[in-house]
Amino acid sequence: MIVSTSSEIHARRTGAVARGVGSVLSSYVDRASGGTLTDVDGREWIDFAAGIAVTNVGNSAPAVVAAVREQVERFTHTCFMVTPYESYVAVCEQLNSLTPGGFEKRSALFNSGAEAVENAVKIARYATGRQAVIVFEHGYHGRTNLTMALTAKNMPYKHGFGPFAPEVYRAPMSYPLRDGLTGEQAAARAIDVITTQVGAQNVAAIVIEPIQGEGGFVVPAPGFLPALASWASANGALFVADEIQTGFCRTGDWFASEHEQVVPDLITTAKGIAGGLPLAAVTGRAEVMDAVHVGGLGGTYGGNPIACAAALASIETMRELDLAAAARRIGGVLTERLTTLADKYPQIAQVRGRGAMIAIELTKPGTLDPDPILTGAVNKVCHAAGLLTLTCGTWGNVFRFLPPLVISDDELDRGLTILDQALATTA
Ligand SMILES: *Cc1c(COP(=O)(O)O)cnc(C)c1O
Repeated sequence: MIVSTSSEIHARRTGAVARGVGSVLSSYVDRASGGTLTDVDGREWIDFAAGIAVTNVGNSAPAVVAAVREQVERFTHTCFMVTPYESYVAVCEQLNSLTPGGFEKRSALFNSGAEAVENAVKIARYATGRQAVIVFEHGYHGRTNLTMALTAKNMPYKHGFGPFAPEVYRAPMSYPLRDGLTGEQAAARAIDVITTQVGAQNVAAIVIEPIQGEGGFVVPAPGFLPALASWASANGALFVADEIQTGFCRTGDWFASEHEQVVPDLITTAKGIAGGLPLAAVTGRAEVMDAVHVGGLGGTYGGNPIACAAALASIETMRELDLAAAARRIGGVLTERLTTLADKYPQIAQVRGRGAMIAIELTKPGTLDPDPILTGAVNKVCHAAGLLTLTCGTWGNVFRFLPPLVISDDELDRGLTILDQALATTA
């Protein structure tokens, strides 16, 4: 067997892969498990990214591997819209019972997060007979045409790709570090924009991430989400929680909405759902989901049987290993160590997040001026030293930590030591 090195593959890539598809590392993965990635040259990285909050149960989790193997030998695809199979139904049952809300629910399965968000908007418009969709500053919902319209940040997501879908309106977000408002005040500010610029009776849905992901791990002030959800319910609009990044134990509960007892009408999920296989879902109130005519929802691959088998095994693993508790424990370690770093480095303006979804925002010391240059430099030093970290944020000045929920204490500790050293040499 001829084994290529990362630099050989990278040279081929330039001539084969479209430039618009970027990568954080120029090393090519050979294998990954638990909290460690190994490239084709044998170099290792401690994984603080989990493939962007996807491998919550760890990479190649044993139960997922076994379930996929078993399914792939029975059948690989039939299309649920043509000849259905049980695992699709079983995933929907799991979603209906795990998501917040004691009412009757239904689910539909898709391939990607963006596709789930698009379908949530389709369903909300159909069920309410209204068109306007409210989204928020710093929000991220995907890269398709409709979800680009819902996403806030221009570069790299939207620049040059317009025109965007109409009837999408952006309201101000609660961003405690930068606005100093309480949740109630920030909600009143957003609701004022909605009522004066859109009109309550035109709103089909409010679509919001309970904790923003790509936008900078922005945790809204307590009370913000409940106030928006109760405004929606009082005004005939649907409250849609985009839990694609926050879902599946990531924040220490099955879903982040649970933290403030917010009960969304619809929830979108993807990323952590299937241990790395592509799967996404919309789950919500039966009367809303079932409003759509037969045949109105679907897609060739949506709820692929291999992805469904992986999802059932992932959910079982999350239950068995109590990965929600693991996320809370990881969050405790991260927060404590990062708070110590914040005392040491004045560039760390805030440590925030919940569970195993924690970030630090870097600014020029003593100000709120974002420092994306320092953030990028620290990131590069971490990568060179064997820690895979990701940045995020509207200004690119937020470091986010999203380890697999099965990461060992030792890996977590070594990763944080690398981060400390990277800050020491750069800050
Ligand atoms: C990643 C993400 C999406 C888009 O998911 P894809 O699978 O990349 O299409 C949508 N919403 C949120 C909150 C996300 O984090």
